[in-house]
Amino acid sequence: MYNTNPFTEEHNLLRESFSAFVDKEIRPNIEKWEKEKICDREVFRKMGEQGFFGVSFPVAYGGSGMDMWSAVVIAEELSQANIGGLSMSLYAHTYLPLPAINALGTEEQKQKYLAPALRGEKIAALGITEPGAGSDVGGIKTTAEDKGDHFVVNGSKTFITNGTMADFIVLVVRTGEGHNLSLLLFDTNTPGFSANSIHNKLGMHSSDTGELFFENCIVPKSALLGEQNFGFYYIMSNFQEERLIAAITGTAAAESAMEKAKKYMKERQAFGRPIGKFQVLRHKLAKMSIGVEACRSLSYRAVAEFIEKGPEAYKIISIAKAFVCEEAFTIINEALQIHGGWGYMEDYGIARSFRDIRLMTVGAGTTEIMYEIISKIEIDEVKHKRQIKARV
Ligand SMILES: Cc1cc2nc3c(=O)[nH]c(=O)nc-3n(C[C@H](O)[C@H](O)[C@H](O)COP(=O)(O)OP(=O)(O)OC[C@H]3O[C@@H](n4cnc5c(N)ncnc54)[C@H](O)[C@@H]3O)c2cc1C
Repeated sequence: MYNTNPFTEEHNLLRESFSAFVDKEIRPNIEKWEKEKICDREVFRKMGEQGFFGVSFPVAYGGSGMDMWSAVVIAEELSQANIGGLSMSLYAHTYLPLPAINALGTEEQKQKYLAPALRGEKIAALGITEPGAGSDVGGIKTTAEDKGDHFVVNGSKTFITNGTMADFIVLVVRTGEGHNLSLLLFDTNTPGFSANSIHNKLGMHSSDTGELFFENCIVPKSALLGEQNFGFYYIMSNFQEERLIAAITGTAAAESAMEKAKKYMKERQAFGRPIGKFQVLRHKLAKMSIGVEACRSLSYRAVAEFIEKGPEAYKIISIAKAFVCEEAFTIINEALQIHGGWGYMEDYGIARSFRDIRLMTVGAGTTEIMYEIISKIEIDEVKHKRQIKARV
């Protein structure tokens, strides 16, 4: 069981310095990035320069070698800025592709990709989803034809966070029939590669979302991450951090929105009294408070179990991801309701939270897919994650 306060003095110092970074480098740019529908490369470089990407990665590749609670600190402080799109871009760089490189990469691959990504010199992305396949990873069609000493990649990906900014992509490709998929470390300067920005998103405006095209791209065999044809199993076991961070971020976003609602309930007058005097709103707030605590308990429990068992903690991680992302949406929706018409305007930041949180039940594995994983463990008593056919 986790300690009710898992944070050490070292985590507290990290929180203090990252919070100052958020104030200086992120808050002043929020309106600009949201309007331009992309953030600056510069913020990646600055994050890396200060060591904030590498907090939970090994010292050998420029990380700080701290535990996963350090990643929780970064995710929570970033959430305080209420710019979901930027948070997503930064964690789609750190906690989508990099854990797989750390777990499966050769020393040469780690020096070439992991170390510069942690320094913020190279931007990373994870390329799984295609126009015809998202949850059903086994249905992807982008092929990497084995030509002996190299692969030839053809196909397309969509909805890829950091897709047009990325210097490299951990790319999921088909190298055979059925579940014979592989992971490639794909350099985006490879001839035949192109990317377009997708701008017509509901929220997460400051994040770069791209559609990617691969036309006869020649990729050396040395770009293979892990073993050929094992990609499907790697996806199942190496992408749990993405869901953990989603649960932590969702909890922090819900708590922030609740705090805004609480403040507004004290300030806003209606019928000659603060709206916080109306019992119906007080009970809404009580339910939000219960929801936030439930989210925190589950997501912290999932972090503690992840630290203990690694990706084997996938059941509690799936539970936390499913519960928090649904609950956070409910809480933020209620926070908007408490703000009345002003909640629908941009003035209080609730409108942005509402737009951004909506993605959380879809991205990083949908709620339905989380339920599939959980029910397979509970009912079918699936003992091993490799038996689960959807994205795990
Ligand atoms: C802004 C944004 C950023 C993203 N970033 C990335 C990224 O960086 N990299 C990346 O690879 N992908 C990314 N994605 C893609 C995201 O992971 C997928 O959208 C998600 O996995 C769902 O896939 P889909 O959209 O194809 O929906 P589908 O898989 O077609 O699902 C449609 C509906 O059917 C349900 N469904 C599907 N299968 C089942 C089942 N077996 N049982 C019950 N219900 C089911 C789903 O839950 C959903 O409700 C991003 C998406 C968005 C919108």
